[in-house]
Amino acid sequence: MPNSILIIDDSATVREQIIRILESYNLFSRYYEAEDGLEGFKKLLSSQVDIILCDLEMPRIDGFKFLSMLKSRPDLQDLPVLILTGMNDRDRKIRGLEHGASDYITKPFDPEELVARVKIHLKIKSLQDDLKRSNELLLELSNTDHLTGLFNRRYMMGALGKEVQRSIRKGGNLSLIMLDIDHFKRVNDTYGHLQGDVVLQKVSLLLQKELRSYDCAARYGGEEFVAILPDSTLKEAVFVAERIRLSIQGAKFSDELAGLNLTVSLGVACFPLEGVSTVDGFIKLADDALYRAKNNGRNRVEFQDPGEEGHPP
Ligand code: GH3
Ligand code: MG
Ligand code: MG
Ligand code: MG
Repeated sequence: MPNSILIIDDSATVREQIIRILESYNLFSRYYEAEDGLEGFKKLLSSQVDIILCDLEMPRIDGFKFLSMLKSRPDLQDLPVLILTGMNDRDRKIRGLEHGASDYITKPFDPEELVARVKIHLKIKSLQDDLKRSNELLLELSNTDHLTGLFNRRYMMGALGKEVQRSIRKGGNLSLIMLDIDHFKRVNDTYGHLQGDVVLQKVSLLLQKELRSYDCAARYGGEEFVAILPDSTLKEAVFVAERIRLSIQGAKFSDELAGLNLTVSLGVACFPLEGVSTVDGFIKLADDALYRAKNNGRNRVEFQDPGEEGHPP
């Protein structure tokens, strides 16, 4: 990947000298320059920069202030900053490092030392970036159900916990839909497990299609799914559940699955609710409703016992 560098120094001669040295080593594809900390900070916000060389003594916003400004931006914290100091500036070197600089380079420059230090900090930055990307990927994998691409149960439990807390703190309704495919065992028995997986993927797509972008759909277990609907009343959530039921009932399957008539049963609950203060209690209510939907003939939506809530849809 081509790298870019930002050089902040009030002396144009120093900037030119640095660029000339670095150019001869072909380390960068872009060079940005600034005369003081403020101009440097503005350049940073508008450009993609991989490393910064920064003078300490400058008019207006000096190097120390620039380092403080960087600290206030979490997205810029990992950028290596190499401060430019005078030969005998021991105290200022230490102060700069304490302010967040990664390293220092002493003026007048020894070209080879300058290049060696820049190279090593670019290397560290690149390793850090790789690590960050791996961590992001790991986090995504640990939250995702690999078959359907929906969130998994682990993520869903965390998200629901947060939403319940938010609802308690700020008021507002929070609804939960539990969905279970009807007679899914028969699908596996008739068409085979692999085709069963295709059906699970299709149900996931249809479920997601009926939800808003800020709802959360998750695979709760084998052929069970959950949808979290923030800011939704019981009535609204039952309406959505009914839409999901109809969408799956009307789904057309192709190839080996042609002719399959798939249905689902759904249970809906809405928070806040008297006597329910935990995530588990909330889930149990939706689960009980789902159980009733199964007992009452499947391919239907049931909601929490109206006696418990007081406002049936
Ligand atoms: P009900 O209407 O009462 O829900 O009946 P059901 O057959 O859907 O329920 P049951 O719990 O008896 O069976 C669920 C089946 O789901 C059994 C299991 O093999 C299947 N299953 C669970 N996870 C997967 C999966 O990842 N892929 C496939 N193909 N099948 C799965
Ligand atoms: Mg200066
Ligand atoms: Mg089940
Ligand atoms: Mg089932």
